[in-house]
Amino acid sequence: MSNKQLIYNVGMYLRLSKEDGDGESESITNQRKIIREYIDKHYNMNLYDEYIDDGYSGANFNRPNFRRMISDVENKKINMIITKNLARLGRDYIDTGYYIEKFFPDYNVRYIAILDDVDNFVDSISNDFMPIKSVINEKHCKDTSMAVKKSKRRKMKDGFYACTTPPFGYKKDPENQGKLIIDEVSSKTVKKIFELKENGYTINQIVDYLEENNYITPAEYMKIRGLENIENKDIWKASSVKRILCNKVYLGYCLRGKTQKISYKSNNRIYVKRSDYICIKDSHEAIIDEETFANVHNNRKYGLIGNTKDNVYLLKDLIYCGECGKKLVFKKRRNDVEVYCRQNAENNKLCSNNCKIKYSNLENKTFFYLEEMYKMYLNSSEAKDKLYKDIIIDRIKNIESNKKQLEREISSISFKISNLYNKRLSEEIDEKNYNEQYQELSNYRKKLQCEINNIEEKLR
Ligand SMILES: [Zn+2]
Repeated sequence: MSNKQLIYNVGMYLRLSKEDGDGESESITNQRKIIREYIDKHYNMNLYDEYIDDGYSGANFNRPNFRRMISDVENKKINMIITKNLARLGRDYIDTGYYIEKFFPDYNVRYIAILDDVDNFVDSISNDFMPIKSVINEKHCKDTSMAVKKSKRRKMKDGFYACTTPPFGYKKDPENQGKLIIDEVSSKTVKKIFELKENGYTINQIVDYLEENNYITPAEYMKIRGLENIENKDIWKASSVKRILCNKVYLGYCLRGKTQKISYKSNNRIYVKRSDYICIKDSHEAIIDEETFANVHNNRKYGLIGNTKDNVYLLKDLIYCGECGKKLVFKKRRNDVEVYCRQNAENNKLCSNNCKIKYSNLENKTFFYLEEMYKMYLNSSEAKDKLYKDIIIDRIKNIESNKKQLEREISSISFKISNLYNKRLSEEIDEKNYNEQYQELSNYRKKLQCEINNIEEKLR
């Protein structure tokens, strides 16, 4: 980059959270020490302020001192940010990427992650590799959060489910509030719906049938039993019929864990894939038998669509429009999914990017590119040089410590020799004895000196 500035006002960003453990290497003190040393080595860097978020996760950017630092950037008080490594800035690679690739450059802020070799003002292969490192940082968060999620779901499997309102067709056992028993009236409606579906009725035909024959809707039924208060007359809807047809509670199953937190990054809940529900069979009496249920669901001619939410697109929420920067939307088209800019689709004045890309192509290309980049990194002379340098430095350290060891031995031998000489002077030992011992020690010393000479040669 050409916009290098002469003097940098540096914001030092320090962060520590529980997920990092108590490791001394991540301690605030240690982070500060590393960054201070770095600043001291560069004459053009002045520390403006420290921004410390102690006890805040890197999974998101809702951290008071991070916000304070960003506002100091916006007010042009700092033009450089240093962290010990990338993970200190954040572990969410979408948002971290946003700051490093968009926000900091927009404000002409230089960002350095010392131990990861990231410096957005220097062209370096480490910068190209940065997104991959961020993904790895994020994985750390994901792993911690997965463990918590798993243990929660395990608890659900053990415990008995006491739902707040019983599903349509059932009521709570007055003897045991945690148990469902068949409700004579509404269970007939449920049976009717399955029967019609098995006989080839479409969802809309079922809705019409129920309306014409004055079947009571789930909401109205709850109102009658004083469980819910609805104002207007309720009518049968396709969605309620579908929900009933898809609910395995009628098979006597108890389904738990239908929703879970969308991710460790957010507090929103999403519906879990059906196949991942926790299912306890024979928890109560069935209204529908397995065969009927299977007929309704496995026969294509009935047209009950499977859960399309099962599709997972790896790049969803990760791809942005190159023109306007908004997230691209995913739309199902025949057997594939198309990706395009909604801004353009809704009003082409908002964004001129009218590309529609087949998602599968995009994913293939992305993986191809990642693979190439990874290969490039591994083969790059910079990576090799660094590896080579590390090995050499290691070896030198080893040799140097050997040398020190030998030098210590030599000085101890010299000491012994001078002792021996003193003994001879005070005639504690005779000439012959002295000569023998002296010869021995002096030969040993020569041998050591020889080894040291060899080492010095090697070091050169
Ligand atoms: Zn756009």
